[in-house]
Amino acid sequence: MSVETLNRAEPLKLQQDALQQVIDSRLRPLRDLRISVTDRCNLRCTYCMPKAVFDKDHPYLPRSALLSFEEIEHLASLFIELGVQKIRLTGGEPLLRHGIEKIVEILAKLQTTAGQPVEIALTTNAVLLSQKAQSLKDAGLRRITVSLDGLSDETFSRMSDSNVPVKTVLDGIHAAQQVGLTPVKINMVVKRGVNDHEIIPMAEHFRNTGIVLRFIEFMDVGCTNGWRMVDVVPAREILAQINHHYPICQSVANYTSEVAERWHYADGGGEIGVIASVTQAFCHSCTRARLSTDGKLYSCLFASSGTDLREPLRSGASDQILTGLIAGHWAQRKDRYSELRHAATDKPTKKIEMSYIGG
Ligand code: SAM
Ligand code: SF4
Ligand code: SF4
Repeated sequence: MSVETLNRAEPLKLQQDALQQVIDSRLRPLRDLRISVTDRCNLRCTYCMPKAVFDKDHPYLPRSALLSFEEIEHLASLFIELGVQKIRLTGGEPLLRHGIEKIVEILAKLQTTAGQPVEIALTTNAVLLSQKAQSLKDAGLRRITVSLDGLSDETFSRMSDSNVPVKTVLDGIHAAQQVGLTPVKINMVVKRGVNDHEIIPMAEHFRNTGIVLRFIEFMDVGCTNGWRMVDVVPAREILAQINHHYPICQSVANYTSEVAERWHYADGGGEIGVIASVTQAFCHSCTRARLSTDGKLYSCLFASSGTDLREPLRSGASDQILTGLIAGHWAQRKDRYSELRHAATDKPTKKIEMSYIGG
């Protein structure tokens, strides 16, 4: 249907219903929005952008395909009207997007329907964080998550397929702490036989620092990372290892849709978390929408198709139409890939890559 037809049409019944009640078919509300601001990256983590696929010939999006800052603001404000309270900027590597501070500044001014400031967070590999931490904080960034998969240069290089020294990332983390982007969270993807020997060194390093280290099970996102179940280190195993060295106790969840299971060191050394998306799926409480770099709406990390919002936006569709597209997509949402992962016989064959959809 063309935008003109959509604009002329009486609002669809589905749109009206969805607008009044923005919950999906499993009664999950729309609360979080992840926006991928670039599909490019300065690392080549083997579990995300394997070099063999993401080489110089890979068809990265041209600049004209990217949502502009104004388009991001416009769409974000529509998502907020439908219930979004938190926005996370991601990618690819979001600090590679020219003017990332400007996007943060624009989004940080938005308010939820309850009149509260929208919480703006960002996930980064921290390669450029030392130089950007202060300007991001000044722009209104509230929280930052840094991905770091090991403390030795050797392990880090195996995971990120790069020669970036770990010190660069640690300096970025330090800078984030210094400017008050606290508590900094660290994401460590654990792959059996590749970096699982760094679980305890990482725990030791970040204990008593105020930094929250979270261990993430290696996931079968996209179609290029060669995922195998045998490479997944289950969260229970990670927790048992840590508990053996430093006794831990489970903490209460901060909010119902929290994906990380939170634990704390019994001796007061701080908090850790596990994100067990493979062995303990949490689809039942998943309230996340994702906006790809080129403006497509996805309602699951493992989706194979999305709803294009950029084209109608650029063709002058009204806010009512755009909101209807978002709400309609959400209302029909049935996604629960992780809960079905092991049982499914008709698995999607063309899952979207994480660097494009936004991790
Ligand atoms: N480049 C930024 C970074 O690495 O933090 C942001 C984008 S990255 C796609 C977002 C998060 O997804 C990172 O914490 C990364 O470790 C995680 N991730 C990527 N591929 C993954 C996979 N196959 N399994 C689990 N986590 C993954
Ligand atoms: Fe880049 Fe982040 Fe993916 Fe690593 S996980 S390749 S840093 S986008
Ligand atoms: Fe949400 Fe999809 Fe992940 Fe389930 S598999 S938690 S629905 S993103």
